Amino acid sequence: MSDKKETKRKPVLSAKRREQSRREFLRTSAMAAGVVGFSLLGFLPVIQGKTLALRPPGALKTTDDEKEFLSSCIKCGQCVQVCPVEAIKLADLDKGFGVGSPYIDAREQACDFSCDGLQCVLACPTGSLTHELNFPADTRMGFARLATPGKCLAVQGKGFKGAARGPDYKGLLRYDEVDRWNPILVADYPYDLELCDLCVRQCPIEIRITQCLEEDEAAKSKKVERVAERHGNECPPKHAIALEPIEMADGVTRIHPVIKEGCVGCGVCEMICPPEPAAIVIDIDKITEMV
Ligand code: SF4
Ligand code: SF4
Repeated sequence: MSDKKETKRKPVLSAKRREQSRREFLRTSAMAAGVVGFSLLGFLPVIQGKTLALRPPGALKTTDDEKEFLSSCIKCGQCVQVCPVEAIKLADLDKGFGVGSPYIDAREQACDFSCDGLQCVLACPTGSLTHELNFPADTRMGFARLATPGKCLAVQGKGFKGAARGPDYKGLLRYDEVDRWNPILVADYPYDLELCDLCVRQCPIEIRITQCLEEDEAAKSKKVERVAERHGNECPPKHAIALEPIEMADGVTRIHPVIKEGCVGCGVCEMICPPEPAAIVIDIDKITEMV
């Protein structure tokens, strides 16, 4: 018996074949790296702890909640179906991570809580939109910020006349004085304001505060008999936004939207703001400082 091991000899490749194999290897490696890189791009927001978009009420309070939300949401679209202003959309492939997950583009259509009872939260079968929310004022979707004060009409001391976002804008809002149960086109509700205060005037939280005060007054004179009319919001919620005089960097005092603790980040102020792009926007990742 021989102790020499038999060794299989590799076939000798021609120089041309070796070059061809090298190129195939490089091409395959580049394609694999591309696919992996593309997939990882989608995960970047999670790695960085950032969200891609404003989520519906109840989805998010901290960046950890966002990760849990993305894994618990089954992308059934139930929340999309019940929203009366069609504020909620399901993310397409181009949104990256969280394909099929619900999000809100506030500039296009904000959540104005016109369903009153947080219908999206009630419709969510998994609790990804937490059922612990009782009132719109309990939500914390983000936090408004006057991103470009120079564009704000109030800061410039200007009024506003006409449709807030122009005649072709398709966004909807609930105007109680028109029809409490049927939101209408913003384009069908022209304004005539000496000083623009649209972000304050249309803020659902500020509207609710006014309603609470009116209801309290009415209750005092026994005009309100239907307790049911008080459903839907805690009364009164904390202020979300106000116009206040602020001394600017140039030493001149100007009227300025000031965001308050009660802001829920619904995005109605961003939606209704007439300048293009909006002077006021929603910060999504600032919420954790506020809660
Ligand atoms: S709370 Fe109501 S109005 Fe707001 S997104 Fe949910 S269903 Fe739409
Ligand atoms: S200030 Fe803007 S984002 Fe905040 S609650 Fe009011 S409308 Fe919504």
